[in-house]
Amino acid sequence: MPRWLRIALTIVVVLLIAAAGAYYWYIGDGNPPGNLQPSRFDIEAVRAKADELPGGKASEVRVETVARFDFPAVASVGGDGWAMVPMAAFSYQVVLPTDTVIIDTAFPAAMGASLGARIDDDAYARMEMAMADATQIVVTHEHSDHIGGIVAYTDPVGIARALRLNPEQLASLPRYGLTWPSQLSDYAPIDYSDMLSIAPGVVLIRAPGHTPGSQMVYVKREDGRELLFIGDIGWTLRNVETGKGRPRLLSQFMLNEDRDAVFAQLAMLKALREAAPDLVIVPGHDVAAIDALIASGAMSAQFRM
Ligand SMILES: [Zn+2]
Repeated sequence: MPRWLRIALTIVVVLLIAAAGAYYWYIGDGNPPGNLQPSRFDIEAVRAKADELPGGKASEVRVETVARFDFPAVASVGGDGWAMVPMAAFSYQVVLPTDTVIIDTAFPAAMGASLGARIDDDAYARMEMAMADATQIVVTHEHSDHIGGIVAYTDPVGIARALRLNPEQLASLPRYGLTWPSQLSDYAPIDYSDMLSIAPGVVLIRAPGHTPGSQMVYVKREDGRELLFIGDIGWTLRNVETGKGRPRLLSQFMLNEDRDAVFAQLAMLKALREAAPDLVIVPGHDVAAIDALIASGAMSAQFRM
C-alpha cells in the first residue's frame, strides 16, 4: 500500500471513530450515571399530606391536548431511534366538589412555532375559560410549553388570585425567554420547602432539576385513584420505565438542565412505579400514555365548563 494511501486511510478511520464517539456522547447515551442515588421520595408522607386539608377530593381529572408536535424518539431517550413520535402539550383540570385546579397551561402558537406545534384552537379556548374559573392554577415548571398559557393570558389580573407559582418559576422566566406580565409585577409567589398541600388530595412536591422551579403534583381522587404529574422529568413514560434520560446534546447543552438531578428523579420514579403500580405517573408530553390513561378512566378528555 502506498504511504499516502495508508495515511489517508488512517485519517479516515480516526475521523470515523471520533464521529462515532461524539455521536454516542451527545446523542446516543441516555443511561444514568453509574453511581446514581435515587432522589428521596416518601410516598406515605405524600399521602398523609394529601389528607391534611379537610374536604372532598377530586371526582375526576380532565385533560386538554392543546398542542401537538413530533419529536424523534432519541430526543426523549438517548440512544433510541430517529422514528418520529407524536408528542403534545397538555393542560389538566382537577375537578373538586367546589373548586377546580389547573395543572399546566401549554402554550399559544407564537411560543410553539419553533417546535412546529399545531395548536387546537378549541382546546386552547376551553383551557382559557377553565383558567378564568379555576380556584388555583399551578405549573410543573417554567418552560413555555407549560407556563405559556399564563404568560400569554389576555387578562392576567383576572387570574392573579388563582396563580400558585413558586419563586423559582418566576425568577427563571427570563432564562427561558419569557417575560412575566407587567400587570402582575406585585404578584407574590408561594414558597415551600418540600411539600405543600394546596387542596384536598392535591400536593405540590419540589423536584428541581429539569428547571429550578420544577415540581411534581400529586393528586388523590375521592375514589382513591392516585396520579403523579411529573412534568418534564420524563417527556415519555419510557423515561420512567427505563430510568433513561434525554441525550446530553438536549439536556446539558440545549436545555441546560441539572442532568444528574433528573436521572436521580427518574430512578426514584422507576422504583415508585414498580412498588406502587396502581399509582398513575403522568409524563410531560407522551400522547400514547395520556390516551391510555383516558381509555383506563384515570382521566377524561376535554375540560368541564
Ligand atoms: Zn415540556
